[in-house]
Amino acid sequence: MLAKILQAIKSFFAALFGGSTKSEPTPARPPKTKPAPIDIAPQDGSEITPDTIIVVANEMDFPKAQPGDNTPDKDFDDDIFVEEPTETPKAEEPAPPPTPTPHQRYLWCLDNGHGKKTKGKRSPVFDDGTTQFFEYEFNRDIVGRIAKQLEAKGVAHFIVVPEEDIDDFLEGRVNRANSKKSTLPKLFVSVHSNAAPAANANAWAPDNVSGIETWFYHGSKRGQKMAGIFQKFLLEKTGLKNRHIKSKPDGQFYVLRKSAMTSVLTENGFYNNKKEALALMDDKMRQKIADAHVAAIAEIEENGL
Ligand SMILES: [Zn+2]
Repeated sequence: MLAKILQAIKSFFAALFGGSTKSEPTPARPPKTKPAPIDIAPQDGSEITPDTIIVVANEMDFPKAQPGDNTPDKDFDDDIFVEEPTETPKAEEPAPPPTPTPHQRYLWCLDNGHGKKTKGKRSPVFDDGTTQFFEYEFNRDIVGRIAKQLEAKGVAHFIVVPEEDIDDFLEGRVNRANSKKSTLPKLFVSVHSNAAPAANANAWAPDNVSGIETWFYHGSKRGQKMAGIFQKFLLEKTGLKNRHIKSKPDGQFYVLRKSAMTSVLTENGFYNNKKEALALMDDKMRQKIADAHVAAIAEIEENGL
C-alpha cells in the first residue's frame, strides 16, 4: 500500500516537472514449463510408465488454504504453460453480473476423453470371443449419467465432447473447456478408466492391480482438495480399492496442465483387469460411479473449493 502511495506521489511530481519515473519492477514470474509435445504427452493413468515419479497423497489430507486463497478461480495456476495471445482481444460488452443460485457456484466442464476412433483404450476380448470393454463408451456413459443428474439439480455443466465417432481430440477438448464462456468460474473433470501393464494388448493384466485413483495438477492446492473430495465419494459409493490421489511433478497429464481452471482426472477401475472390467460393465456399478461424481460436485457446489 505504502509503495503504491509513494509511486503515486512520484508520478504526480513527474507529471508536474516532466521528469521520468521508473515503474516498480514487476516480480519475475517463475519459468513456465515447456509442455511435452502432444503426441508424447500422457493422457491418463494407463500411459504412466513404471519408472515415472508419482506423488501419492491421502485423499483426506486437505492442504491448508493460504490467506486470501479461497476466492479466485482464475489465475490460480500461474505456472501452467499458456500461449500468450498474439493480439489484444477486442473489448467485450461487460458480462451481466452473475446471479448464482445455491445450485450454481461453478460451471462443470465434463470431459469424457477418447473417442471411438482412439487406438487402444480397450480391454482384451472376453472368452465369448466378441465382448470387449471400450473406454470411450464407458467414459461417455458415466458423463451422460452425471449430466442427467446435474440437469435435474440445476447445476451448470457442459459436456466437452458430445461427439462419439471421434479420435482423442486432446487439444480440442481442452480448448473447448478453456474457451467456453461463462459468468461462473469453471472446473474441469476428466472421466476415465485405467489399464495396467500387461504382456500385450490381448492379455489381461494381473488380478491384483485394481481400484480407483484421482489425479490433480501437481502443486495445485485446490486441485488436491478437489481430487480428495472426488476420491472420497468414489471409494464410499463403489467400495473399490483405494489407490489414493496422485500427481506427477514432471510430464503432467495434458488436460490437467492445459486446462485454465482447477481440474481433476478420475481413473475409475481397471478395464484390463478381467474381474474389474466385468464390474465396470455392470449398470449398477456405473450408476454408483456416476453418483459418486455427482456427490462430489454437490459438496463442492455447497461449500466451494
Ligand atoms: Zn483414459
